[in-house]
Amino acid sequence: MAGAVFATRAGSAPDWRIPVLVYHRFAPTVVDSMTVRTASFENQLSVIRNRGLRVTPMGDLIARLQKPDALRDAKIISITADDGHRSVYSAMSPILAQARWPFTLFIYPSAISNASYALTWAQLREMHGSGLAAIGSHTFWHPNFKQEKKRLSPEAYRKFVQVQLVKSKQVLEQQLSTRVDWLAWPFGIYDDELIRMAEDAGYTAAFTIERRLVSPSDRMMALPRFLMTDADVGARFERLIGCS
Ligand SMILES: [Zn+2]
Repeated sequence: MAGAVFATRAGSAPDWRIPVLVYHRFAPTVVDSMTVRTASFENQLSVIRNRGLRVTPMGDLIARLQKPDALRDAKIISITADDGHRSVYSAMSPILAQARWPFTLFIYPSAISNASYALTWAQLREMHGSGLAAIGSHTFWHPNFKQEKKRLSPEAYRKFVQVQLVKSKQVLEQQLSTRVDWLAWPFGIYDDELIRMAEDAGYTAAFTIERRLVSPSDRMMALPRFLMTDADVGARFERLIGCS
């Protein structure tokens, strides 16, 4: 599967497109572009419900992507959140738990139980233990790989990337007693070399923040997601996820 593009019939148009959403922070008011008000989040979830989309666990989506025939006419969507902000625990998780809708958290472990804005390990264990939250890696401390590549020698850069990919996976697996097979690229930055290194570190799928639906032409190590903003509500959100 290394860097594989999903098999498609030659010359045929993709016959499925799947939305994957990525959130960051939730608050009663919009304090920055990465914050979604809980009222807007609930509006987005009601659109998903009213349009008959099923919120599928990431494990199910990844498994289906390996057998793209299983995706024809699939009305599914996946929900993710990057960075491990505390409002994921206080605002997002309770709302999704009410609907019993699964979600995936991409975490950079250096912040957990450490940075004031970040989740604690206890909160992560609780969400993961509920069976609704799957865990992915967002590297160890969320570096900008483009900047690091300019700053470091080629050898030091490769070592740096390897530590970021491997240490994050190891710490998350150990702290949460789970397997961590998926990665979200920090700032959406990736290239062929980074993809090779992520595969070597044992990741089987990785996510970007390219603003489009997942389709058969996407690589498993560069799956697009919609970075959700507070403005993505109502008809605009319906268009975004391919429902209008
Ligand atoms: Zn991030």
